[in-house]
Amino acid sequence: MPELPDVEVFRRYFQSTALHQRIESVEVRDETLLQDISAKRLESALRGARFTDTRRRGKYLFCGTDAGNWLVLHFGMSGFLKYGKEPESEAPHSRLLLRFNNGFALAYDNQRKLGRIFLAEDVESFIADRDLGPDAWDPPLSREDLDCTFEGRRAAVKSVLMDQSSIAGLGNEYADEVLFQAGIDPRRKAGELDANALAAIHGKIRHVLGEAIERQVDPDRFPDSWLLPRRAKGETCPRCGRKLSHIRIGGRHTVFCPVCQNGA
Ligand SMILES: [Zn+2]
Repeated sequence: MPELPDVEVFRRYFQSTALHQRIESVEVRDETLLQDISAKRLESALRGARFTDTRRRGKYLFCGTDAGNWLVLHFGMSGFLKYGKEPESEAPHSRLLLRFNNGFALAYDNQRKLGRIFLAEDVESFIADRDLGPDAWDPPLSREDLDCTFEGRRAAVKSVLMDQSSIAGLGNEYADEVLFQAGIDPRRKAGELDANALAAIHGKIRHVLGEAIERQVDPDRFPDSWLLPRRAKGETCPRCGRKLSHIRIGGRHTVFCPVCQNGA
């Protein structure tokens, strides 16, 4: 499911394909994904405009137009973008299709329909309205922001990492990966972690997101030492070889190694 690294890869894809061409048509194929806007209004806002810029905060992708507004995409539990002459052939669950004047089109595919489409006038107010915390990747998350976020929190460290108002971008799988690489039990209370543990988490957020983006979020290219490719039941820890534990934290499936993540 798309987390920060996936959305950053989508942003770069959008940036390298969909900018500077006039939008000829806007096809909304599933209005249930539209948030606070009708298909008609979205169409009239985008048709005739050109995308000029992209931004991202956490898992939200912002696509700015020369008409002064922003198409905002969230991918929910599944989704991707596809650009081409007939992108639907590779994007069978297109919910939004934008056709450009160069004969190409961009499809927003969202099989499970948990994605969301917005139109925003201003990125900063959109972020403020949703109470999104600082991005976990760009600009680089400061140690101060991380410490502030964790201070006094009694919730499990994993839940705090996934809280988008604390730090924007980490979801279930990358939170597990960061804590695995930092050697910290995901059930520990965030506010009780010492400076070493916070330093480890801070460093691993940067490391894990950077590696994932560089590898185009392709699990086949992730290092063997990572937890991400081993989330299925019965898999063993790439470090110590023991069986990984599966529990639920805040209702979410959590994978960790009870030996390598024993506190700290
Ligand atoms: Zn282990």
